[in-house]
Amino acid sequence: MNITGTHIAYLHTCHRKLWLFANGIQMEHNSEIVAEGKLIAETTYLDRARKYTELAVDGVKIDFYDAKNKVVHEVKKSDKVEQAHKAQVMYYLYVLHKNGIHEPTAILEYPRLKQRDLIDWDDDFISQGKEWEKKALSIIQLENCPELIQKSICKKCSYYELCYVVEP
Ligand code: SF4
Repeated sequence: MNITGTHIAYLHTCHRKLWLFANGIQMEHNSEIVAEGKLIAETTYLDRARKYTELAVDGVKIDFYDAKNKVVHEVKKSDKVEQAHKAQVMYYLYVLHKNGIHEPTAILEYPRLKQRDLIDWDDDFISQGKEWEKKALSIIQLENCPELIQKSICKKCSYYELCYVVEP
C-alpha cells in the first residue's frame, strides 16, 4: 500500500483516525471537508494556479507544484498551525526527492491566518520519511482499531460520532 500525505498527517494527529481512514471507514462529511478545502485553494489561488501543476507520484497527490522551481505549494484552510500540516509537506518533499527531484522545497500557506511558512530541503527528510512510512504501516495493519485519544481535536474530527456516540 502507498502511504500518502493524508496518512502522514493523521499519523501526527491521531492513530485511531489513521487506522479508520486507511481501513476504508469514511464518514459522510469527510468529503465535505475535502471539498471546502479545495474550494479555498481554488478560489484564493486561482491566479497562481497557472504556474502550478497537479502532480501525482507514488500515490501521493500534490495539488500545486511549481516544476520550474521545484516548489510544493500547500494551502491549509485551518485557522491553526498544526505540526501535522508540516509533517505532510515534509513527506511530500521526501517522496519527490525519492523520485529524482533534487532538493525540493515547499511553501505552506494559511490564508485565514495570512501566514506562510517556507520549508527548505533537509537531508534528514529521507530517514524521517522512511520512519514515518514504517510507523504508519504498522498502525494501519493492526488488527484492532487503536483506542480513542480523547483530546480537544476530537470535537472537530469527522470521526467524532463514530468514536463517541454510545449505542443505546
Ligand atoms: S474523534 Fe478523536 S479519537 Fe476519534 S478518530 Fe477523531 S481524533 Fe481520533
